[in-house]
Amino acid sequence: MLDVRQVSRSFGGVFAVRDVTLSVADGELRGIIGPNGAGKSTLFNLVSGHLQPDGGTVRYRGARLERRSPHRRARDGIAIVFQGARIFRRMTAVENVMVGAHGHTRCGFVAGALRLPGQHREERAIRDRAWEALEQVGLTAWAHREAESLPLGQQRQLQVARALCGEPRLLLLDEPASGLRAAEREALAALVAELHAGGLTMLLIEHDVGFVTRLADRVTVLDLGEVIAEGTPEEIGRDERVITAYLGD
Ligand code: ADP
Ligand code: MG
Repeated sequence: MLDVRQVSRSFGGVFAVRDVTLSVADGELRGIIGPNGAGKSTLFNLVSGHLQPDGGTVRYRGARLERRSPHRRARDGIAIVFQGARIFRRMTAVENVMVGAHGHTRCGFVAGALRLPGQHREERAIRDRAWEALEQVGLTAWAHREAESLPLGQQRQLQVARALCGEPRLLLLDEPASGLRAAEREALAALVAELHAGGLTMLLIEHDVGFVTRLADRVTVLDLGEVIAEGTPEEIGRDERVITAYLGD
């Protein structure tokens, strides 16, 4: 599904990501962990196209991605939930998902592909799809509530719904559980597990190592922009370099 080879990106001469190679199988849930500043979010931006690599290759379903715009990558099925992503506070939940349709998600293209005449019918197709996405994350009861009135846990689910609206094949989640209470965290973990069971390929960055290791098939550990370990959660848990660089602090 995703094949990143020796990708590097620096800012002002300092590597944020250095010679990173990772390969994610169809249907896999890959956890990405590492200390602050390890390059995790930069790696996501290199996959989603919001940043260009200085070197290396990114392949998605066999095709080179480096020259494709973020918009094109979204249309091709790569969705990202950014770290600290904001909702549109004054819009309803369903409107928030629909607005996603006009940004860097594939939702708008779904409607466009139906080739419906007139804006009204196109909007209805987007609304239907947005509703389905809310259903997928269990938020239909909140559909017409102002997004601002949703608890933080539901706001995160709303962001996932926005990403799911375009029926992605690869979903990138950047610290989706940060700041959530234990019960909200559990609900989000259940949602991620359900998407995984449904066959969606995902990359999950999370500060909470326990959250990642119980969900992921494999875990990649970054430190100072480089991959320092990769393996099953069990292998990662007993890796000396990981314990020294990360788990130990
Ligand atoms: P992580 O998500 O693992 O915390 P980031 O990918 O956000 O790490 O950042 C990795 C490094 O790259 C950090 O040192 C950060 O300061 C730097 N960095 C990230 N984005 C930029 C940017 N747009 N401009 C300058 N430096 C950046
Ligand atoms: Mg980050």
